[in-house]
Amino acid sequence: MTRKPWADPFKGFRAANSNTRILKPGEPLRGSPSAALRAQPVLTGSPDNLGLTSERLRQRMVERLQLRDIHDQKVLAAMRAVPRHLFVDEALASRAYEDVSLPIGHGQTISQPWVVAHMVSLLHESGKTDKILEVGAGCGYQAAVLARIYKRVYAVERVRPLYDVTKARLQRLGLEQVHLHYGDGMLGWKTHAPYDAIVVAAAGLEIPNALLQQLKVGGRLIAPEGQESQRLVLIVREQAQHWSRQVLDDVRFVPLKPGLQIS
Ligand code: SAH
Repeated sequence: MTRKPWADPFKGFRAANSNTRILKPGEPLRGSPSAALRAQPVLTGSPDNLGLTSERLRQRMVERLQLRDIHDQKVLAAMRAVPRHLFVDEALASRAYEDVSLPIGHGQTISQPWVVAHMVSLLHESGKTDKILEVGAGCGYQAAVLARIYKRVYAVERVRPLYDVTKARLQRLGLEQVHLHYGDGMLGWKTHAPYDAIVVAAAGLEIPNALLQQLKVGGRLIAPEGQESQRLVLIVREQAQHWSRQVLDDVRFVPLKPGLQIS
């Protein structure tokens, strides 16, 4: 696989993020790289400590993922690189590397790291990494992980305030290859279709037909299906008019909803 042409948006930022920052919610470093970079001169006296805690927590998170059967090196590297604490509220930052979903406002959640790693691993098995569509961008964490693997990430979010906050966050982090759209992801994002892969981050009763149609032949789609009891479903578009379907793990996602939510 070829090396990605884009720069590492977290580079420098990682080094500038002190080992104490994420564990002290009262501190002024509010997860913006520019704030972190501004803090850098203060920290240059002790280069050995720079960024260690958040990196160590991520490393431990990755080790736990490996124990739970995530072995795709590219996915593990992506999970190790993306600072999940920057995608949640500051008050929850100290819990960012636990293997749990956390609230992100508006009744939505950031997905559990294992679920993200598992879904992305299943998609990545195809080896095709040009374009991916994410339905349900939420806080943008999974999109940031995907951006380390896929050349272009198209993400759709239906809740306006979440979209606005996430748009600003992605910009701040310099994640230019993530394209965010305010819309109903049940309709997909036709402009950029067809996709090598589609990941749905919210559970519907069935997988919307528009998404099946926007998948490339040979492409893969993963989505949770169900209401009270939900299962992950992996779809492969085997031929233009033939999709295979595999039912996998029990999961728990927020509901996939039609239409837009303006506030
Ligand atoms: N991908 C996120 C998970 C967010 S939770 C992460 O990185 O952790 C799922 C998100 O799906 C919520 O933000 C919810 O508003 C959104 N959602 C639900 N139905 C949707 C739809 N039809 N179109 C777009 N987004 C939708």
